[in-house]
Amino acid sequence: MTIAVYPGTFDPITLGHLDIIRRGSHLADKLVIGVTTNPSKEPMFTVAERMAMVRREVADLGTAVEVVEFDSLLMDFAEAQGATMILRGLRAVADFEYEFQMAGMNQQLNSDIETVFLMADVSLQPIASKLVKEIARYGGAIDKFVTPAVAEDVRRHLATTR
Ligand code: ADP
Repeated sequence: MTIAVYPGTFDPITLGHLDIIRRGSHLADKLVIGVTTNPSKEPMFTVAERMAMVRREVADLGTAVEVVEFDSLLMDFAEAQGATMILRGLRAVADFEYEFQMAGMNQQLNSDIETVFLMADVSLQPIASKLVKEIARYGGAIDKFVTPAVAEDVRRHLATTR
């Protein structure tokens, strides 16, 4: 059985992430979405909230997609999950340098696990969680970038923290 891990912060999950998840789910028998605690990024949503949002958004993909929290080294997490593949989404040039470096170092840590890069649909490529939050903070519409339920979560969060 081929197991792939798709790690990220998902703060919040966007249509770009969901497109990568849908594509990735065709590549492996099981796709484990790893949600990092990543306190260094000072996320808008707690890891429990992000996990719940991801779970809700992938519910229609069935049992072949699992959502798991992790706060360890990615390669240790992938190994513990029995994965042979790490999926990452690649957006134009912005992601390249960081992803290139990370994949290279991960290869040195564990050469049995391959990093595989996927491109989202062209229309979804510019989407970034960071910009979604920035647009929402200034009262802009984020409905083209996230699902209606996530847009509502972001609006509710901003309304309660203002
Ligand atoms: P990280 O905090 O590790 O950057 P993110 O939650 O931002 O994690 O994203 C997880 C993965 O999804 C990363 O590989 C990122 O490049 C990818 N990704 C995010 N948005 C998009 C998008 N619009 N198109 C393609 N890949 C994306």
